Amino acid sequence: MTYNILENREVIDLSPLLVPGKEKRRLTIRSFIAELDKTTMCDIDMMSHLGAHVESPLHFNSCLPDISSLDIRKFFGEAVCVDLRYKKPREAILVKDLDEHVKEGDIVLLHSGIKGEDAPYISKETAEWLSKRIKMLGIDDTINLEESYDLMASHKHLLENNIPIIEMLTNLDKVAGKRFIYIGLPLKIKGLDSSPIRAIAIL
Ligand SMILES: [Zn+2]
Repeated sequence: MTYNILENREVIDLSPLLVPGKEKRRLTIRSFIAELDKTTMCDIDMMSHLGAHVESPLHFNSCLPDISSLDIRKFFGEAVCVDLRYKKPREAILVKDLDEHVKEGDIVLLHSGIKGEDAPYISKETAEWLSKRIKMLGIDDTINLEESYDLMASHKHLLENNIPIIEMLTNLDKVAGKRFIYIGLPLKIKGLDSSPIRAIAIL
């Protein structure tokens, strides 16, 4: 008997919908009619850091690998979304908040529920700790990646160790505290520092 591997599995869309002309960063699409067959096509003009996107080491240091050079296996696999909804505004995320939830080789997503300036931040010790054990880090707008943008500890520790960073995810409240399969593949464009992704969680 055959069975459908995705049967009874919940799929959560982790990418926000982007609307051309309505975003804070550049996003324009220009549709045109192809001469040959009269089909509709589009030119896309967008920033590489808009909506859910995954950053390569090149983003931090122009001598490091671009997004197309990284092993495709980095961008999907077993993931955990650590539920940090007990944290206070502007509080540091410490190793002890993560160590009982994170396994070696995990894709680690973080969610606090506190948006914007007041979001808890990843301490530099935590960034260093993560860089020694995880495959990829993902956040939404309820986590501050950096304690300070002078230090850039998270960018440095993770990207210099070829650990991509996923930003601007959505719906992490629906997966917080859960373990699942994460998939978010970048475009294969040479020289790109970061790529928009359609990210999903398969529970
Ligand atoms: Zn970015």
